[in-house]
Amino acid sequence: MEKERNLKKVFDQHVELEEFFTGFSVKSDKPAQPAGPQSNDNDIIAQLDQIAKEVDACRKCELGNLRTHSVPGEGNPNADIVFVGEGPGADEDAQGRPFVGRAGQLLDRVIAAMGLKRSDVYICNIIKCRPPENRDPRPEEIISCLPFLKRQLHLIHPKIIVALGAHAAKTLLETNKPIGQLRGKFQDFYFDDFSPPIKLMPTFHTAYLLRNYSHENRMKVWEDMKTVLAELGLPVPKGRG
Ligand code: URA
Repeated sequence: MEKERNLKKVFDQHVELEEFFTGFSVKSDKPAQPAGPQSNDNDIIAQLDQIAKEVDACRKCELGNLRTHSVPGEGNPNADIVFVGEGPGADEDAQGRPFVGRAGQLLDRVIAAMGLKRSDVYICNIIKCRPPENRDPRPEEIISCLPFLKRQLHLIHPKIIVALGAHAAKTLLETNKPIGQLRGKFQDFYFDDFSPPIKLMPTFHTAYLLRNYSHENRMKVWEDMKTVLAELGLPVPKGRG
């Protein structure tokens, strides 16, 4: 009996994962978030556009002169969830848009599996210009670029930030703890010493997931996303649409 229950559990997990990584439309009575800009969103959009212009003009570090396009970020100015990655790769640099390469396609599937659309959320990075040869961003580059991200987060004021990977999680949480230790539990992100914190869920970067595509790793990311959905009171997708 116990064995049957365990088998059933493993089977259910596989079904969930299958849905998570193939992408599917989720049956839901109402959209997860209202579609299209809301009345006071225009002001936020204008300010996000202003940040994007400043990002494009920025030469505070050498990356500004090395990249093709800056990649400020994109999405719903009124999003409940902001995904923050590390920095643009070659595809993002070519298009000026975040998460459009292979890691981005996997992120799209994660978002779809959550029952959301890419346009429901906001997607951006810690640094806004591509480091050459996809090297890690340097501390001074992160320090120069971080004010842009903080201004974006301040404007959008999401309910939850999902930090994708070690660079995003460690930078936003000002910690050196490994991502494997941070992920799975909500952490507090503070803008400053005065404002209340925003919940931040660290999880594995989709690029890491592509390189380490194990059942265990995928399950961990899916668990993290289910925790995010539950916190927002959104339905946790179960069946195929
Ligand atoms: N990886 C990132 O961290 N950000 C992107 O925009 C794309 C890949």
